[in-house]
Amino acid sequence: MKKILFNDVNRSCNYTKNIELLFSDYELFRKKYFSNICINKLEKTFTKSDLLLTHSATGALEIIATLLEIEPGDEVIMPSFSFISTASAFVNKGAVPIFIDLNPLTLNIDETLIEQAITSKTKAIIAMHYGGNSCNMTVIKKICEQYNLVLIEDAAMGFGGFFEKQPLGSIGDLSVISFDITKHLQAIQGGLLIINDKKFSERANRIYNIGSNRTEYQNGTVPYYEWVDYGSKYQMNELNAAILEVQLNNSDDILNHRKKISHLYYEKLRPFEIAKLLTIIPFETLIHNIHEFYVILNSEKERDDLKEYLNEYHIEALFHYNPLHKSKMGEKKGRFIGINNAESISRKLLRLPFHNEITEIEIDYIVLTIDGYFKSK
Ligand SMILES: *Cc1c(COP(=O)(O)O)cnc(C)c1O
Repeated sequence: MKKILFNDVNRSCNYTKNIELLFSDYELFRKKYFSNICINKLEKTFTKSDLLLTHSATGALEIIATLLEIEPGDEVIMPSFSFISTASAFVNKGAVPIFIDLNPLTLNIDETLIEQAITSKTKAIIAMHYGGNSCNMTVIKKICEQYNLVLIEDAAMGFGGFFEKQPLGSIGDLSVISFDITKHLQAIQGGLLIINDKKFSERANRIYNIGSNRTEYQNGTVPYYEWVDYGSKYQMNELNAAILEVQLNNSDDILNHRKKISHLYYEKLRPFEIAKLLTIIPFETLIHNIHEFYVILNSEKERDDLKEYLNEYHIEALFHYNPLHKSKMGEKKGRFIGINNAESISRKLLRLPFHNEITEIEIDYIVLTIDGYFKSK
């Protein structure tokens, strides 16, 4: 039997036309033809923002760290339960990451612990939307305004998600989205920097263009371009943009398919929750749940056993983050605030197969196998 993979490349779209077009004319590379089309499409969602397509969300976070002139000793408040680059982009500049525990209901940063983490060295707060489900942005934004801190959204998993009626990524002063193959819109590798506070735009463009004022030159405001700032080569390459363009055209279908999978899992796993065998996402998060579907078991051992059992039945289920404050670098570089829900929950969490190619029959098989596991105990 063919294994049901945890993730898959979105193979139902047709990429050939874009790739052939691109290779038909060198000018298209030079003009960044597909990058520009992608930006135009993304501007329909982010109507008030300046957008830069990057080679990754990690790269976009690194632009932000340079932009904020992060220096050794500066503190950045962030969730412990997140991906490495949420922290590393800032720690690479000498920042001290202040890791905050998670809210067990949403697995997002526990916003009630943020205020006590603020010191005179705090520069920014990072809100990461776990699984594309929004943090409490009203509270976090208010804290940032009160203490004059920069609000960063790590919406790496957030494309297509919302906080109230606002698209994720449109709320922070600066935000990032990922188009990596591990996310739901896949440029294969890619990211987006969203600049909502436009006072950052000019420097962001310079940092993005290897520290040059190339954008100003292209806009005709300077006669030639030269090296004027820190920076690196952060652009998305045209091949990735050509792939992303196809997926943006199909994004409604992709997101609707994922919503459907999410609803199916919810409906079929709810009886297990009622029987107290596991916990699933809260019902309210279902409307926007498009990135992943996780279950939380009653113990780490049960999580590990279920993962193994599923594997025997050719189903690939995966853990997620090891909390950053428990990592080698995180322990050395950062501080932690909380009661360690991040660790206890991460050890009981299991993510089920969830991707653009999965079918309802496969979901039924996965749920049946989970049922088999509990009956075998
Ligand atoms: C995936 C991810 C990133 C990194 O995205 P890349 O595009 O792979 O660099 C950053 N933060 C979070 C929360 C992520 O899930």
